Amino acid sequence: MPRRLINLTFHGVGEPPRPLEAGEADVWVSRERFIDVLDAIAGRDDVRITFDDGNASDVEHALPALRERRLAASFFVVADRVGEPGFLDEAGVRALASSGMTVGCHGLHHRPFRSIGDRALRDELLDAKRSLEAIVGGPVQVAACPFGSYDRRVLGTLRRCGFRTVYTSDRGTARSHAWIQARNTVHRGDRPDLLERIVSDERPPHRAWRRGAERAVKRWR
Ligand SMILES: [Zn+2]
Repeated sequence: MPRRLINLTFHGVGEPPRPLEAGEADVWVSRERFIDVLDAIAGRDDVRITFDDGNASDVEHALPALRERRLAASFFVVADRVGEPGFLDEAGVRALASSGMTVGCHGLHHRPFRSIGDRALRDELLDAKRSLEAIVGGPVQVAACPFGSYDRRVLGTLRRCGFRTVYTSDRGTARSHAWIQARNTVHRGDRPDLLERIVSDERPPHRAWRRGAERAVKRWR
């Protein structure tokens, strides 16, 4: 039975171990704030946790805190950043997978998928998928679009490349089994009440309708 879920996206946790790119500091949360949000999620079965970009903090801070609370999460790794300073190395990616976490694809080079030509997009997805599969020793079948960038062509290519679920950054709630999963980015200043905010933002019928229409445009453009 499909249910309404809240998908959350984290990026980095704790003190950044590398110079951040423009706009990144806003989605980098302190350890304390991260733990507050996790504690609000623990015990709820309607919240899914995801991490983008494959930062080293995924293993250093997020994994132990998730395990302590018996929570699972999906980690969307940028394949060509594996082993770079401040990002996960291969052992880290394997540690996530062997702890029961899902490892997903966030592109080879972290480029907005819509801006890449057909052939390059296929390579971007397949090279990343194969490289991550070689590291984890199993299939990688979920993807998250860098910068939330997708359209009908991107979705078709993702499907043909063997992805079963695509995570976006469209905000609001998502149906548990849907092919496209809208997500809500957690920002530096967010508090645990963001879960209630996400749901109440969608409550007025005209807002739910508008958000549904916006997503339909993205799928079909
Ligand atoms: Zn990203």
